[in-house]
Amino acid sequence: MAEEMTYVNSDGLRLDGRKVDELREIKITPSVLSRAEGSCYMEWGQNKVLVGVYGPREALPQHIQDPTKALVSFIYRMATFSVSERKNPRPGRREIEISKVCGEALEAAIFLERFPNTTIDIYTHIFDSNAGTRVTALAAAAVALADAGIPMKDMVSSCAVGRAGGNIVLDLNKYEEDAPDAVDMPMAIMPRKKEVVLLQMDGLMEKKQWFEAFNLGVQGCMSVYEMQKDALKKRYLEIEKDAMQEIEKAGAKMDKAAKEGEPQ
Ligand code: ADP
Repeated sequence: MAEEMTYVNSDGLRLDGRKVDELREIKITPSVLSRAEGSCYMEWGQNKVLVGVYGPREALPQHIQDPTKALVSFIYRMATFSVSERKNPRPGRREIEISKVCGEALEAAIFLERFPNTTIDIYTHIFDSNAGTRVTALAAAAVALADAGIPMKDMVSSCAVGRAGGNIVLDLNKYEEDAPDAVDMPMAIMPRKKEVVLLQMDGLMEKKQWFEAFNLGVQGCMSVYEMQKDALKKRYLEIEKDAMQEIEKAGAKMDKAAKEGEPQ
C-alpha cells in the first residue's frame, strides 16, 4: 500500500518549512518599464510575473467603445519556459479563463465611469511558476494600475488558500496543489471595502473547513495588501527624492547663472 504523504509535520511545518498560515516570500517592484503607463515586477516564491498597463486610451475599433465607462482588458500569459514541460505558446482555455476572472476583479476597483470610450489594457506575463500564478498576476496588476495613476476605489489584494493532506494551508505550492485531497481556492479582496472580487475553488470542502480556509485567505490577502502599499510608498518616496534633487540642481544652476551675470 502506498505510504500516506504528510504535508504538515509534528512541529506544524510544511514540506517547504512554512507554517500553515505563512505566505511564501514576496517581492514587489513597481515602475520597471519606461514605455508602459504603469508596471510592476513581482516575485512570489518561485512565481515571477511582469505587468505592463497601457491606457486609458481610445478603444478601437470604435464599435467596442462604451460611452458610459472604460473597458478593461486583462491578458494573462505564461511563457513557454515557465512550467516544467514546454508550454504551447498559444493561449489555452486556462489562460483565457484566468484573464477573464482577473479582469473582472480589477474592474470592480477602478473608477471606470471616469473614462468613457476608452480601454485600459493590462498585460501580465508569467516567467516562472509554482502554483498561485493568477493571484500573483492579479496583485502585481493592481500595483501596476496604481503606478499608472489610474483612480481606484481600493487596492485589489489576492492570495490562494486551500487544503493539503487534511490541513488548511495558506498559499499552496505546486506540490501541495497536487495532494490527493487538494483544494485550491484563489481569492482576491478589496481590503478597505472588505469586498470579495475573486473567489474560485478547485476541489470540495465541508462548510466548516471552507470558512476556516476563507478566513485564512482573507488574512493572507491583508498581508499582501500591506506589501503592496509598502512597495508603492517606497516608489513614491523615490520619485519625491528624484524631484527634489532636480529642483536643487535647477536652483544651483540659476544661482550660478545669476552670479556670472552680476557686474564685477
Ligand atoms: P495557478 O498558477 O493560479 O495556481 P493553476 O492552479 O491552474 O493556476 O496551476 C497551478 C500550477 O500548475 C501553475 O502555477 C504552474 O506551475 C502549473 N501549470 C499551469 N499550467 C501548466 C501547463 N500548461 N503545463 C505545465 N504546468 C502548468
